[in-house]
Amino acid sequence: MKGKRNIALVAHDNKKKDLVEWAMQKQPLFETIGIFATGTTGRLIEEALGRPVQKLLSGPLGGDQQIGAKIAEGEIDLLIFFWDPLEPQPHDPDIKALLRIAALYNIPVACNRASADFMIHSPLLHEGYEREAPDFSLYTERQVATLS
Ligand code: PGA
Repeated sequence: MKGKRNIALVAHDNKKKDLVEWAMQKQPLFETIGIFATGTTGRLIEEALGRPVQKLLSGPLGGDQQIGAKIAEGEIDLLIFFWDPLEPQPHDPDIKALLRIAALYNIPVACNRASADFMIHSPLLHEGYEREAPDFSLYTERQVATLS
C-alpha cells in the first residue's frame, strides 16, 4: 500500500445505519484515506461525514461490480462491506463476485462493525504496510488448446 490509500464502503439497506454510525465514530482514523462507495451508501456517508466520496452506481445496478473492477485495477486497498446475512439480495451473484475478487487480490475485507474496528485500529494502516501482490504469472502464461 504505497502512496494515498483508498477504502471502499458498501452496506446493504439493513446495514446502512450501522455503517454510517461506524464511519462517523471512526472518521478521524481514516481522514487521509480516499473513500469509494456504492451509490446510496456513498450518498449517506458523504452527508454524514461532510467529505467527498467517489460514488459509483448503486449496488444492484452494477456498483458492486464497479468496486470489484477498481480492486482488480489496484485502486482500492481496503474493503468494508456490511452485507446482510439475513436477507437475499437481487444482486447476490455480484456480491459473491466482489468478495471473490477481494480475496483474489489480497485485499483486507471487513464484513461487520467488529471486523471494521479491528481493521481501522490496526497499526499497519499507518505504518506503510505493503500488501503482497499475488503472482498470477502461472495462470496468465498457462498453455491452452487453440485452433491451430
Ligand atoms: P447501495 O448499494 O449503496 O447503492 O445501496 C449497496 C449494495 O446493495 O451492494
